[in-house]
Amino acid sequence: MIGEEARKDLLDALGDRVQFEAPMSRQTSLRIGGPADALAKPATRDELQAVLRICRRYALPQTLIGSGFNCLVADKGIDGVVINLRKFRELQERPGPAIYAEAGVSHSAITRFCTDRGFTGMEFAAGIPGTVGGWIMMNAGIGVREQKDVALEVGIVSPDGTGEESIGRSALDFRYRELRGLPDGAVVISALFGVEKSSKEAVKAEVDRLLAHRSSTQPLDVPSCGSVFRNPEGDFAGRLIEQAGLCGERVGGAEISTVHANFIANRGGATAADVLALIGRAQSQVQERFGITLQREVHVMGRTE
Ligand SMILES: Cc1cc2nc3c(=O)[nH]c(=O)nc-3n(C[C@H](O)[C@H](O)[C@H](O)COP(=O)(O)OP(=O)(O)OC[C@H]3O[C@@H](n4cnc5c(N)ncnc54)[C@H](O)[C@@H]3O)c2cc1C
Repeated sequence: MIGEEARKDLLDALGDRVQFEAPMSRQTSLRIGGPADALAKPATRDELQAVLRICRRYALPQTLIGSGFNCLVADKGIDGVVINLRKFRELQERPGPAIYAEAGVSHSAITRFCTDRGFTGMEFAAGIPGTVGGWIMMNAGIGVREQKDVALEVGIVSPDGTGEESIGRSALDFRYRELRGLPDGAVVISALFGVEKSSKEAVKAEVDRLLAHRSSTQPLDVPSCGSVFRNPEGDFAGRLIEQAGLCGERVGGAEISTVHANFIANRGGATAADVLALIGRAQSQVQERFGITLQREVHVMGRTE
């Protein structure tokens, strides 16, 4: 719950860019999630810093969300303020060549930008849905390439909203689907990506090839959050789930995909509880059959019991 004074301060700072009791099912690709006490969409650095200061002043929990492509939000919603940076969309060419992108820039905008200019290096990310903020925090990638291979610098705002700094590549501790080493609760505001000059045709051909491969191997026509589990060392979570005979397994509206067993699809009306039950079932069956503990890749957020 957000008290009257904090509500008023949020409204003063953001006007109609803050919404109370905001359904998170509209902010996540799984189309699941109860209400956030508040959803803030600051449009400037001053507004972002104001929101962070209000959270600090009233001890409100703050949660960052990009496009919600890797999030499972609890049915009971999220305490405090969910901050969405999708209004931060500046995208520029920089010397190097390099690309400066604010946190809210989407995967499709970057792909278009690189293709139009014939910049190579980021084709791998064309089919990884989300925003620059989410990509960086997740070290999003495919087998051969990840954010760690292209990120030269990451801009962050401190969690209390007092300052902004740039963190260079050598201090960025990218791991498998995570970035460590940022101050707790830091907000990614931008990133600088290194690219190389190629031709428009070559970049487009590689993007098309990767997108075609994706659409033949992933269920892209149903709401999902991509891979639910991290791949265990030397193996694939999808292979283990498939071998455990769980393809097509359902709980309520949630289903383990028959196209890619590491995806859980919302077949209509699925709840977070349904998805969590399927996650638990996959974990226990894979553990029983193969002695392997599957770790979640999807971020579970909010009021889970
Ligand atoms: C069909 C499909 C295919 C996918 N394929 C891939 C793939 O091939 N490879 C891969 O790696 N992923 C894949 N994903 C997962 C997803 O696309 C990535 O994790 C992506 O990086 C999520 O970006 P997002 O902006 O939606 O982040 P969100 O899901 O909104 O957030 C992810 C995490 O980052 C944090 N966060 C977001 N923005 C910020 C910010 N500005 N500052 C601080 N923290 C922030 C959030 O709190 C959360 O913990 C796929 C998902 C789907 C649905």
